[in-house]
Amino acid sequence: MSNLLESIIRPEILALSAYHIPSAEGMIKLDAMENPYTLPLILREEISQLAEEAHINRYPDPSAAPLKAILRDTLAIPSEMAIMLGNGSDEIIQVIALATARPGAVLMGVDPGFAMFRIIATFCGMNYVGVPLAADFSIDLEAMLAAISQHQPAVIFLAYPNNPSGNLFDPQAICRIIEATPGIVVVDEAYQAFADATFMDMLTQYPNLLLMRTLSKLGLAGLRLGLLVGRPEWLAQLEKLRLPYNVGIMTQLVVERILQHYDILLEQAAAIKAERAILRARLATMKGVEVFPSDANFVLFRLNEASRIFQELQQHRILIKNLDGSHPLLKNCLRVTVGASDENTLFCKTLRHILEKPLQLA
Ligand SMILES: *Cc1c(COP(=O)(O)O)cnc(C)c1O
Repeated sequence: MSNLLESIIRPEILALSAYHIPSAEGMIKLDAMENPYTLPLILREEISQLAEEAHINRYPDPSAAPLKAILRDTLAIPSEMAIMLGNGSDEIIQVIALATARPGAVLMGVDPGFAMFRIIATFCGMNYVGVPLAADFSIDLEAMLAAISQHQPAVIFLAYPNNPSGNLFDPQAICRIIEATPGIVVVDEAYQAFADATFMDMLTQYPNLLLMRTLSKLGLAGLRLGLLVGRPEWLAQLEKLRLPYNVGIMTQLVVERILQHYDILLEQAAAIKAERAILRARLATMKGVEVFPSDANFVLFRLNEASRIFQELQQHRILIKNLDGSHPLLKNCLRVTVGASDENTLFCKTLRHILEKPLQLA
């Protein structure tokens, strides 16, 4: 069997380890940057009504024109820019990689960065180059410009704010990168709602800039909708790789309806930002804990024996993300998603308890 696998499956796939998503059953789930709140009952009832009346025997609208129109309005997308929808923005990353994967082509990112950039580059047959960030997780512009000149990347992905560090990069550094690269720069604004900063206005200025958003972190992770914004010339090419019915009818109808009440999502984002400030302040008072700044809906922090603490939290049914060992800059780092007030309180109480407990000697 293993010979057969090795003769059929591409070597770079055999070498890839699958993106691990741990089971969260029965856990307080603070690992995946989900919005902890539900929608108001009246809106949920409207959604039930939509489900009842949807023509699920028919294929969805392949152009999703009404959904795109309300997205354009809600997100202030410039009229001269086109929109492409994806089944989550992960799918859009894949479309861009498939379109640019000439033999030997490089997809560049920063490390530590969003893991899917490297994974998708690899399975699409591209070479991934990750340029290390500085120790404070800012962009090392000199290193980046040197890497661009050496590798001539077809595409550079930059998450703004960055995941897993949570910070916004210096916008001027990003502009320098856009100007210096021979290829496309995709600014991935998955966490834009928590940041008050965007490259949306820069699209008209830079012909090689594309901008990606998702509704996942805003409370609609289960519906799977991401979007790419950019010049129609680029998007016409990328559209050729998008599978025709990648956004289902329920997603189209439900997102359209929820966007009519976008203020609710924004209020929830504001509540998450307020909780983030409380969570960061509490972490900062804990002995031996270093908290990093965050413009996203998660907080990165460092403490001794992070992997052991992570496991102890898990034993207390609290699931966060262990980043220790994933990159030298993330040594002893853990990432916690900002949850609802009671979840954050329980997380902090449990962490404090673990930290203050005398070490049990074996
Ligand atoms: C979560 C995340 C995404 C993917 O979101 P989708 O759910 O696939 O839309 C993309 N980029 C970054 C940086 C993320 O953290």
